[in-house]
Amino acid sequence: MISKKQITDRFISYVTIDTESDPDSNTTPSTEKQWDLANKLVEELKDIGLKDVTIDENAYIMATLPSNIDKEVPTIGFISHFDTSPDFTGAHVKPQIIENYDGEDIILNQEENIVLSPDYFEDLKLYKGQTLITTDGTTLLGADDKAGITEIVTAMEYMIQHPEIKHGKVRIGFTPDEEIGRGAHKFDVKKFGADWAYTMDGSEIGELEYENFNAAGAVVTIKGKIVHPGYAKGKMINSIYIAQDFINSLPRMETPEHTSGREGFFHLHTIKGDVEETQLQYIIRDHDKEHFQARKEVMKKLTEEINAQHKREVIKIEIKDQYYNMREKVEPVMHIVDIAEEAMKSLNITPIIKPIRGGTDGSQLSYMGLPCPNIFAGGHNFHGRYEYVPVESMIKAVEVIVKIVELTAVKQKTS
Ligand SMILES: [Zn+2]
Repeated sequence: MISKKQITDRFISYVTIDTESDPDSNTTPSTEKQWDLANKLVEELKDIGLKDVTIDENAYIMATLPSNIDKEVPTIGFISHFDTSPDFTGAHVKPQIIENYDGEDIILNQEENIVLSPDYFEDLKLYKGQTLITTDGTTLLGADDKAGITEIVTAMEYMIQHPEIKHGKVRIGFTPDEEIGRGAHKFDVKKFGADWAYTMDGSEIGELEYENFNAAGAVVTIKGKIVHPGYAKGKMINSIYIAQDFINSLPRMETPEHTSGREGFFHLHTIKGDVEETQLQYIIRDHDKEHFQARKEVMKKLTEEINAQHKREVIKIEIKDQYYNMREKVEPVMHIVDIAEEAMKSLNITPIIKPIRGGTDGSQLSYMGLPCPNIFAGGHNFHGRYEYVPVESMIKAVEVIVKIVELTAVKQKTS
């Protein structure tokens, strides 16, 4: 139904525009160059015939595919982000197209000997015989999440060209700055006006996600006392040793490198210190809300115990919640996951439903009143030079979008 050339050309027209976001900037979008793609997208959405195409002062884009039926059905949305990760350069992306992939090593860059190998990236084996789009080894690709944008635009265009497909109102939204955690921040949920939405921002074909971590960050500050080491007996307090006690009192196996699935963790990611003062920075993650609260309590208790031992406040902790598991907001409207699952199955795609070990824009949007599971966009190895996307997965994602829209139109309005 969708031609490979059409979707490939569209994808390449997006990834060759640099839209890297910048965590150190306070503006929205965080980089001026994100406007380059945003403005192009607005024109394209108008050209294919979408209605109410808007872009606000922060570069958030919205558009409508109007209903073509007379009964009232839920309004649903599809959301992607057009920025790329600051982890790796997105300037001068030179995509390479590998047709009929033979399942062997792909030489990304002869000169620099950069090879994309199925020995290391085993997922590649899934795509033997398919068309892959890769980098030239010197940049990221930007399939995260320009594959999602490509799929949404293509699905909308397809439905406009095929009015025999009956559907309710569909809203689409494209955001800046997802990669620096701000994609949802200035998203106007009310203006979007959908009953629910999906982010097209997952990886492998079949992925369907509605659980993510509850997340907090903790800063632990320990104050010592510096005295000349030769005269320090009974006087010096070395903050580094107190920090060491703190670190060793947390369960060593509950760390990212020892956990998977729904297991939570404490992650010590930064230490800065000298005798006088040491600072520890942690992130705390858990899918389970009670376990999440318990982890924060454990850290607070530990600081109290250490202070009690020293008979004064030597250690202080500051914990800030960052985001929450969207499951809590999605479970009461579980049909929105069921519809996506049904859509995939009807297209012979095996749904891969697993908890995300991270957050998504959808989790923030879910807490802003727009329940928003995440669906595959097809790419692999995000945020680096080995990123690639099979064209066939992008086509399947387009089909999933169209099918979800169709299925929603036969359901009654529930909200
Ligand atoms: Zn993404």
